[in-house]
Amino acid sequence: MSQKQHHTFQAEIQRVLDIVIHSLYTDRDIFLRELISNAADALEKLRFLQSSGQPVHQPETALGIQLTTDDKALTLTLVDTGVGMTRDDLVENLGTIAHSGSKAFLEKLSEAKEKTSLNLIGQFGVGFYSAFMVATKVEVFTRSHQPDETGWLWTSDGAGGYDIEPAADLPRGTRIVLHLKEEAKDYAESWQVQQTVKRYSNFVPFPIKLNDTAVNTVQALWTRPKAEIKDEEYKEFYEFIGHDSDAPLARLHFTTDAPLSIQAILFVPSRNSEALGLGKSESEVNLHCRKILIQAKAKDLFPEWLRFLKGVVDSEDLPLNISRESMQDSALLRRLNRALTGRFIKFLAELSDKDPETYAKVYQAHHRFLKEGAITDYDHRDGLSKLLRFESSLEPKDKTTSLADYVLRMKEGQKEIYHLSAPNRETAEASPYLEAFKALGYEVLFSFEPVDEFVFNHLNEFDGKPLKPAEKADLKLDDQTGGLSEDDARQLASFVKETLGDRVNEVVTSKRLVGSPAVVVDADEFTTATMRRLMRAMKQDTETTPVKVNLELNPRHPIVVGLAQLRTTDAALAGKVAEQVFDSARLTAGLLDNPQILLQRMNELLERMVAPR
Ligand code: ADP
Ligand code: MG
Repeated sequence: MSQKQHHTFQAEIQRVLDIVIHSLYTDRDIFLRELISNAADALEKLRFLQSSGQPVHQPETALGIQLTTDDKALTLTLVDTGVGMTRDDLVENLGTIAHSGSKAFLEKLSEAKEKTSLNLIGQFGVGFYSAFMVATKVEVFTRSHQPDETGWLWTSDGAGGYDIEPAADLPRGTRIVLHLKEEAKDYAESWQVQQTVKRYSNFVPFPIKLNDTAVNTVQALWTRPKAEIKDEEYKEFYEFIGHDSDAPLARLHFTTDAPLSIQAILFVPSRNSEALGLGKSESEVNLHCRKILIQAKAKDLFPEWLRFLKGVVDSEDLPLNISRESMQDSALLRRLNRALTGRFIKFLAELSDKDPETYAKVYQAHHRFLKEGAITDYDHRDGLSKLLRFESSLEPKDKTTSLADYVLRMKEGQKEIYHLSAPNRETAEASPYLEAFKALGYEVLFSFEPVDEFVFNHLNEFDGKPLKPAEKADLKLDDQTGGLSEDDARQLASFVKETLGDRVNEVVTSKRLVGSPAVVVDADEFTTATMRRLMRAMKQDTETTPVKVNLELNPRHPIVVGLAQLRTTDAALAGKVAEQVFDSARLTAGLLDNPQILLQRMNELLERMVAPR
């Protein structure tokens, strides 16, 4: 059984490797960050096992990392005394990908071939393979912490799969030997490795030695007084724990004793990796108790919508020997979650106050998460609603306003907060639904994303003021004169209703229109046209339930006035015009399924116009 066995990499892994091996990257340094981070993870896992009383192989071996350079042999060797790997672990961990976002990451990588995408490699559970950026051959000697295991050697050149064979007499942990490429031979030099390792070493909670010399003093950044910590240190810490070389947009470092003892550093990354199409991100906040890692990427420490955060949380109130399973549903975790979430929302509110420019960047990158929270997180809905920003009819394009500022600007007698959804600013400005608001001087918030409609719908009100879709507003423009008499308008309405039949629920005279002949309004009190469109897109609303709309006619618009006249002289033509007015209104509302019919009819009408009389 002392045989070497050959394995092929899972197809996805082979693709990662092909990209990593064959592309030129300027930020090759990150391989060290990734390998040290794996060593630190392995050590944290071992410490956790020991602290919860489980038997481990060679319990007296100290926890630490050793780096050795050899400029003759052109090798760099990393040794850790962590959990190590069994044969099955090797196949599972260094041959396959588990992370759900990895496929998307790969696609991104192969398209872009640029350094920012590679920078993220560690975020997708494939950080180990960055070793092949600098090595022609990688050897992994490893011995699991499990007492009745033995040692193994994993070898690969990255191209032709990998071999696994037994390796006798290994100490607990893992030794990785990198046989360096010619162009990466600097990493066989002590000074080069030292420079790179220094950047992260102070965030590794275990001693690191380089060629037998200590390089770090073990200390946890979050336990140090804030005033002492330099910006650069925060940035490097983020880089290490977040596997991201781009500086974070914002950070919150806080300490509190009540209601729970918490020390935390939370970072807001510069980008939303979900928006890049990289799949659902995982929270990357690690949970510690008195500096000891209890759980990496702790689940349930934050609500789902805060999954874009990275950082550390340390709480002395956690029992040290808590098992990961019992963590899941612990009441303590729920209290931590509530306290942390509340604190972070407060932080964002303060940021928007004190540093609106930075807040705007944070919002730009992560507003989808905040909106998701506003929809799903009832406990924090109030706080979240204050963080939302929208463009508005009273502000120039691209400038946004908060709901609170909207309320301050509300006109006397205005009782509701109005919002209008449209595909973009231009369409919103041109919307017939906006006419009455303009005339009355009422502000209307614009929403350009489908999710906004759900947000408004879920919030329902802000500061006691109902949130109302503009098309549902019951507005009256009083000083309106001219146009059809009430009687004529009523008769026209019933003519149009007769013409349109079942296609329309009700035809009424509008009090809100200024420049448009007509609008349609959803007949259902609680549904808007946009909502309808969304529901259809999501197939929740099947074709079998036809949309019921009311048609509102503007009795002062020349088309409507003329139509009232035409009805008495040429009812057939009047019918066509009525249908055209209706379809145009439906088109504006985004509710016209087949514009073809509208165009045909338009051509018919044009033909009549140009016909010689
Ligand atoms: P990630 O660290 O995100 O899981 P990597 O590609 O960096 O992804 O590593 C893959 C896996 O290989 C790790 O999850 C771990 O199980 C295993 N591994 C890597 N390096 C070590 C090590 N030094 N000791 C023990 N296990 C390791
Ligand atoms: Mg890793």
